[in-house]
This record gives sequence, structure tokens and C-alpha cells, in this order.
Amino acid sequence: MFDKIKESVQKFSRKGVADEEAVEQLVKDIQRDLIAADVDVGLVSELSDEIREEALSEDVPKGLSRKEHVLEIVYNKLEELLGDEPEIEEPDRILLCGLYGAGKTTTAAKLADHFRKRGRKPGLIAADTDRPAAYDQLKQLSEDAESAFYGEKDAEDPVKVVENGMAEIDSNLTIVDSAGRNSLDEDLKKELSDMYEVFQPDYTFLVMPADIGQSAKKQAEQFTEAVGVDGVIVTKMDSSAKGGGALVACKNAGAPVFYVGTGEKLGDLEKFDPVDFVSDMIGQPDLESLLEKVEQLDTDPEKLLEGDFTLVDFKEQMESVTDAGMMEEIMQQLPIGTQMPDNMASMTEEKIGNYSTIIDSMTEEEKVDPSVIKKSRVERIADGSGTSREDVRELMKHFRQTKNMMDKFDKGSMKRGNMQKMMKQMGL
Ligand code: GDP
Ligand code: MG
Repeated sequence: MFDKIKESVQKFSRKGVADEEAVEQLVKDIQRDLIAADVDVGLVSELSDEIREEALSEDVPKGLSRKEHVLEIVYNKLEELLGDEPEIEEPDRILLCGLYGAGKTTTAAKLADHFRKRGRKPGLIAADTDRPAAYDQLKQLSEDAESAFYGEKDAEDPVKVVENGMAEIDSNLTIVDSAGRNSLDEDLKKELSDMYEVFQPDYTFLVMPADIGQSAKKQAEQFTEAVGVDGVIVTKMDSSAKGGGALVACKNAGAPVFYVGTGEKLGDLEKFDPVDFVSDMIGQPDLESLLEKVEQLDTDPEKLLEGDFTLVDFKEQMESVTDAGMMEEIMQQLPIGTQMPDNMASMTEEKIGNYSTIIDSMTEEEKVDPSVIKKSRVERIADGSGTSREDVRELMKHFRQTKNMMDKFDKGSMKRGNMQKMMKQMGL
């Protein structure tokens, strides 16, 4: 996959100095590694420029060597390239779709097994009525995954099978395995949209194999447009060198990767976590010691505060929006082309309280410069606030989305939770 990157980074680490030549060599090596993993050339070139520019021109933070500084930049850039970790709420109904051989049936059973181990009672419905063997394959896998099964041998109408299955199956989490095609044709579109109507899934996942590399972008876009998928599961990460390219392509298509398949066995399914992924890619020992060092850095919060939208502002702003309906109203009034993060409209008081507790557990430095919050800090903050890593990450994601939106407005009027002024500005 991205194994080569680890070598390139280690080669750079062993160098005496991180001068321009060494940085240039590292950038070249990473470029070659990413292109070998079938990452889009345009993206690779953008990333290279960014690494070069930041590594050579930015002042090195006090307490870090330039080498460490460069590695941190590389780490952050790769993480950005892969996107955020998506959150999955307890699903009751999952629909899997995808082309022939993508790994749908295998993944259906893996998901059942995954959720069964987390206390759910999964059931699998065999809605691939095209291939006679599909019924037997899923039936066997259901047994392996100790999950309920519903199928109709020799059935012709998959939508009817789903309808019957929903009535019959004894489960509290139902997963539908649908039929594939060679490509997303009209016939498959219709079948999937009829199935969607009847099944009303909480999550529709597109299953794609890693070996399609960057063409995952096009496929993700096509399925998103035609079927409205919520996200992607990339299978066969273990057996293809193009997995990295496929993951980047999904992020590029705006389709979050929820899980990755890493083998043929039931247990070979992992929640996709870009942070862990990049850590593995670069090599844990290097990274951990580096991040610890960054953590101990002595920074001046006041200097960082100027002009930037910080977590302190975010917290004040959230707390001023106790009326949840207000956010929704603002959302509707936003100029066309501005996107309010979805989750912003659904802020409940409980969530706001939770977020505030998390922010209270942070150091001043973290509040004003949230970009330092990585890995071990996430864990510390989660422990300190009695929340989970996922909660902290969710907050950070939400913060970044909000910051992104805020940056589009006049910063001065947005600071300090000045909602009234902001609303006036928008003519409310
Ligand atoms: P479907 O046509 O989309 O239902 O695909 P299947 O679930 O039948 O899988 C096709 C083939 O890919 C099977 O041989 C699976 O064992 C294999 N497969 C599925 N997921 C993975 C994976 O994550 N890693 C590997 N190595 N093989 C996989
Ligand atoms: Mg199948």
C-alpha cells in the first residue's frame, strides 16, 4: 500500500541535516510512492508544493528541529489527503451496493460479525437474485457470523425478497446484500432505488475493491449521484498496492470511507481512521516521539490568538446558541454557495454541554491552536473530560467545519460569539 513512504521517511530521518536538498529528496520520494499507490497526479503535485513551501519557508517552532518540523508537516498533509474519520451512529438497517466482485457479500458478513461482537443481533438478507450461488454463499457466511439469515432460493424479484425478509428476519440490525453488475447501468440504478424505498436504510455503503485505485473517485461519484450512498467500504486493502489511491480518491469524491476490508476472513474489517492509517504509514516510533515533543512545546497563546477563530470563540459561540432552532434559521439565510455543516443544525443542548466539557479539559495552548491536538492529546483530553476519543474527534471536526465557514465571513464580526452582529450582516 503506502509501505514505501515509511522507507522514504526513514531515509530522511537518518540524514544529518534537513536542508533544502534533503527536503527536496523527501518530496520526490513521497511523490513517487504516492503515484505508485495510484494517487491522482494533480493531488500529488499540490501536496508536494505545500510540503516544500511550508517546510522551507515557515519558521521552525521553538524546541523542534527542522527535521522534526518537516516530518510533522508531512504527517499533517498525508492526513488531510485521506480525510476525516467518519462517525457511524448505531445503525438498524444497512444496504450494501457495488459492482461484481467488489466484496459485498463478504463485507455483509463481516459487518454482521462486527456488530454482533458489539452486542447487536444482526440479520442478513440475500437480495442478489442474479447469481444462484449468491444465496448459498451468504447463507454459509451468516452461519459463520452467528447471524440470522433470510433468502429465497430461485427468487426473481430482489425487492420482494427484501420486503419479505424485513417481515421475517429475527434481528435488530438488518444488512442487505444486493446484486452487482459490470457497471452502474440503468437496471441496477432502478433495482437499488426500489430497494432503498422498501428498506429505508440508515446507511447505504458502496463497496469497492482497493485495486481500482483512483478510479474509485468516478465510481463513488456515480453511485452517490444515482443511489445517494452515505459512504464507502474499501475492500482488499491487503492484496492491492493501490489501496492508498482508492482511499484518497474517495475523499476527493466527497465520499467518506467508513470501513476497510483487510483480508478474506470475517474478522478482517477495520473502522477507517486516517490518523492511525498515517501513523502506520509513517512508522509509529518516529511519530510518537515527535508528537510528544510537539506537545511539550512552549508556545505563547496570546500571540496565536490574534485574528484566528479559536476553540475559545467556538465555545462562546456555541453557548450563545442555546436555542437550537436558531442555527437552522441562520442556515437558511446563508448566501448561496456557503455551506453550513450539516451537524451544526442539529446541535442539541446536551451536545453543546458535552463539547464545552471537552474544551474545558484542554490546555490554553490547545484552545488557541487546535492544530496541535493529535493522538496522545486526544486521548488525554478524552480521559480528562470523561468522554471518548470519538467525541473529541467529532468536536474537532465540527470546529474545523465551523472555522472553515467562519473564514468566509468578516472575521472581526464573527469573533467572540457575536451572533447578533453576524445575523445583522446577513440581513436577518
Ligand atoms: P461480491 O460479488 O461483491 O459480493 O464480492 P464477494 O464478497 O463475493 O467477494 C469477491 C472475492 O473477494 C471473494 O473471493 C472474497 O473472498 C474476496 N474478498 C472480499 N473482501 C476481501 C478483502 O478484504 N481482502 C481479500 N484479500 N479478499 C477479499
Ligand atoms: Mg455477492
